[in-house]
Amino acid sequence: AVKVEEIMTFKTLAASTAAALVFATGAYADGLIGIAMPTKSSARWISDGNSMQEQLQEAGFETILQYAEDDIPNQVAQIENMITRGVDVLVIAAIDGTTLSNALENAYYADIPVISYDRLIRDSEYVSYYATFDNFQVGVQQATSLVDGLEERFGDGPYNVELFGGSPDDNNAYFFYNGAMSVLDPLIEDGTINIVSGQMGMDTVGTLRWDGAVAQARMDNLLSAYYTDEMVHGVLSPYDGLSIGILSSLKGVGYGSGDMKMPIVTGQDAELPSVKSIIAGEQYSTVFKDTRELAGVAVDMVEALVEGSEPEINDTETYDNGVKVVPSYLLEPVLVDSSNWKEIVVDSGYHPADAFE
Ligand code: BGC
Repeated sequence: AVKVEEIMTFKTLAASTAAALVFATGAYADGLIGIAMPTKSSARWISDGNSMQEQLQEAGFETILQYAEDDIPNQVAQIENMITRGVDVLVIAAIDGTTLSNALENAYYADIPVISYDRLIRDSEYVSYYATFDNFQVGVQQATSLVDGLEERFGDGPYNVELFGGSPDDNNAYFFYNGAMSVLDPLIEDGTINIVSGQMGMDTVGTLRWDGAVAQARMDNLLSAYYTDEMVHGVLSPYDGLSIGILSSLKGVGYGSGDMKMPIVTGQDAELPSVKSIIAGEQYSTVFKDTRELAGVAVDMVEALVEGSEPEINDTETYDNGVKVVPSYLLEPVLVDSSNWKEIVVDSGYHPADAFE
């Protein structure tokens, strides 16, 4: 645990009232934890950050929480700054999982353990633990739901489908894609699913920085290049922010009205606009990953590390970061569609009921 004097150095600099309080009461803090998050442009990361901050503070820690707005140098600078401020543990959800090697080396020399949060930090031996979901299973759930939706809405195949991948600098994107393809590949081989554009593989279908506008532009291009005489029946989308862009492209050319049935579009994160879109019959499904639970796993890891004990893990095989297999704790994702959204995202308190009134 960090000494109060050490915290004071940082707090005095920050000139915060909290510091005055700690100073005045001589209160003991269990440590200072740095939390580096990628961006506020997606609600899930806001929820991750808030949950972690709350839970850490309840457990007696001080926190520094920073968002880098998807700017890599910005995130590196934020992490370096946390190291300088003497954090006891770093929790990092990387923007680009391959650009933090130097920062992590500095953390190592400053004796600061690093927890890779949700996204695996690659190419560094200084990643202590990894807290995430079963990301392969996320892809399996997306593709399974896509196939179920295709049968339900369009009867027997063959179906015309297009594929979207996540950001190629995010290790998770490959797990989502490979999980999905484990379900789709056999159906592509036996002709049940037709990838009309022929565009497959993360190199081709990836979406840099998970940018919805990029996905929308690519969908526009696919529609005008390959679907003037054919209908698209389904789109594999790995993230709600992309799904929203894909759906607006589809709606732009008339899908979802008259006899142009809306294609089956998947997603991830159960973000509010996408849950509403599911209720409205536009997006077909999403995958819910409870960020409160993931934050809880990270907080347990922090507590164990600060106490000097071993954090609980449940996977020691899956996440090879290029240098080592990082000991991990994986949570289970949950598929959400029109049949269970209320039970999963409202009854659990993730989204307030009045958001849907
Ligand atoms: C996360 C997903 C998220 C995506 C875009 C991934 O690393 O695991 O939950 O949809 O990033 O933010």
